[in-house]
Amino acid sequence: MELVNNHYQLTGGIDPLALCKEYGTPLYVYDASVMERQYQRITGAFSYPNVRIHYACKALTNLAVMRLFRRWGAGLDCVSIQEVQLGLMAGFKPEDILYTPNFAGMDEYDEAVRLGVKINIDSIPMLENWGLHHKHVPIGIRINPHLMAGGNEKISVGHIDSKFGISIHQLPHVLRVVESQGLVIEGLHMHTGSDILDVDVFLRGADILFEAARKFPFLKYIDLGSGFKVPYKADDIETDVEELGEKLSEKFAEFCREIGHELTLMFEPGKFLVSEAGYLFAKCTQVKQTTSTVFVGLDTGLNHLIRPMFYGSYHKIVNVTEPTFKPRIYTVVGNICETDTFAVDRRIAEVVEGDIIGFYNAGAYGWMMASNYNSRPRPAEVLLYQGEAYLIRKRETLEDMVRNQVQLQLEEIS
Ligand SMILES: *Cc1c(COP(=O)(O)O)cnc(C)c1O
Repeated sequence: MELVNNHYQLTGGIDPLALCKEYGTPLYVYDASVMERQYQRITGAFSYPNVRIHYACKALTNLAVMRLFRRWGAGLDCVSIQEVQLGLMAGFKPEDILYTPNFAGMDEYDEAVRLGVKINIDSIPMLENWGLHHKHVPIGIRINPHLMAGGNEKISVGHIDSKFGISIHQLPHVLRVVESQGLVIEGLHMHTGSDILDVDVFLRGADILFEAARKFPFLKYIDLGSGFKVPYKADDIETDVEELGEKLSEKFAEFCREIGHELTLMFEPGKFLVSEAGYLFAKCTQVKQTTSTVFVGLDTGLNHLIRPMFYGSYHKIVNVTEPTFKPRIYTVVGNICETDTFAVDRRIAEVVEGDIIGFYNAGAYGWMMASNYNSRPRPAEVLLYQGEAYLIRKRETLEDMVRNQVQLQLEEIS
């Protein structure tokens, strides 16, 4: 979203205020052209020909978005059996879906086998179980390489006491299980967290997986997961995927020459593909001046965008209605009855009640982490595609929220 002649415009000249008028607020808006740009950027970064990008759909599972990624040629990365089912609904072929859950029960894995998707196992007990239940179904193994990576402890998942993956130090044990059960290992996988800045983390991860890969003769792919950081503010640093593509393509090709067969190099970005494509628009309900602070209060809250409260994440915030007013310093808060702070001491063009406020970087983990807390309905979603705006999810209603409640007629009980 950019300022053009002192008005904010979305791609194709679409007016965000008109969208808010038509669909109401709060409103999530996603720009397909930004998603496509990011997808082309990452696929274009690698000179190694055999690269496959799986969209980590937990970032944003709206079926319309998933269909776009399928059209552009991506596979899908799923962390639950429901995401697998959504992927199939969106038209992905089972072989293009990667299922990498954590602490899933055997029943979920059974279903994944039945659906024919690629499966990553991330614990030794589950590997042992595999021999008993699905010995002949090839699998990948999620390795924890113990690289400290990622923006903060909630999104860093590769450290020594992380619950994810099988420790690289337990590789001898893994090999014993694989051998005794006669398992076919077709992939090695790692995913060490989110917001990784240093491409060396991926290169070191690759080295660790290469070393392990020599022990698995049936290997078809190596998946280096994700964790690409995107910019949140002007001049913010981001993962240099071009540098990564260049360095890793060379390294990967060399490794494949060495072992004498071509492996597929895989990544599974979520945030990188959709974060910058999304905006959350909300309306200012009140401006409240206290003795120390001026609060801008909105018709949304942590129930719709939890990232600032949950991860301390930064979202650029602008006054869409009056971008040219003199900036003032505001603390931007939501309407939830808990501490519900989006931003502290932000310079924003002077806000009055009724103004539309826009949040950037709301495409990934925005709507997906939304809840009905305080019994407020979740927002509608709009997709901008080839110059048109499409409603891709209706705003929830009170009826939606009580749909699965079963009414107890207390008079009839006693
Ligand atoms: C969450 C997740 C991803 C995507 O992470 P991003 O930081 O959004 O790119 C990829 N792979 C797995 C296994 C994940 O759990």
